[in-house]
Amino acid sequence: MKKATDTLYCVKCGSDSLVKDGEKAYRCGHCGFTYFHNAAAASGAIIVFNGKILLLERALEPSKGKLDIPGGFVDYHESNEQALSRELYEELQLSVSDSDLSYLFSYPNEYLYKDVRYYTVDSFFELILKAEPTLILQQSEVSNFYWVDPKTLNLDDLAFDSCKRALTSYLG
Ligand SMILES: [Zn+2]
Repeated sequence: MKKATDTLYCVKCGSDSLVKDGEKAYRCGHCGFTYFHNAAAASGAIIVFNGKILLLERALEPSKGKLDIPGGFVDYHESNEQALSRELYEELQLSVSDSDLSYLFSYPNEYLYKDVRYYTVDSFFELILKAEPTLILQQSEVSNFYWVDPKTLNLDDLAFDSCKRALTSYLG
C-alpha cells in the first residue's frame, strides 16, 4: 500500500494492477486479490490520580511532540482491555488488570503513518488510581508524561481528534 497518488502494487502477485474498488477495498486486476483497508481497533486509558489526568508527549510521528492518551493498537486475538493493559505496561511499566478498566465510549480516528492514512476506532477506558504510580517511559514512543489539571488542559495540545472528543466527553 502506498499513498493514493502512487502506483499501488498487489501484495499477492506484485503486479501494478491494484485499483480502488469502493470506499475501502482495493482489487487487483491481474490476480483478483482484494485488500480491505478496514478500520483498526485501538484502546486508550483516561488515567486519573488526585483529580489530574495522565497525558503522554509523543516521541514519534504522527504528531510528534503533541499530547496523547496512553494506549495503542489492538493486536490479533486481544480484547480491548488486554491490549490496553499490555500497552500501559509497555509504555509506562504500569501494571493493571482488566477489571481496573471501566469502558467509557469510543470515537473514530484517522492516523497518517508513513504517507498511508489508517482509520481506527478508539475505545476509551477510565482508570482511577489510588496512589501515584512510578512510571518508567518507553522512550522510543513517549518523551515525557504530565499529570494535567483538567482546568488548565488545552485541547489544541492533543494529537488526535478522538482524544480531544474523549476528554471533552469525559470532562463535560
Ligand atoms: Zn494481484
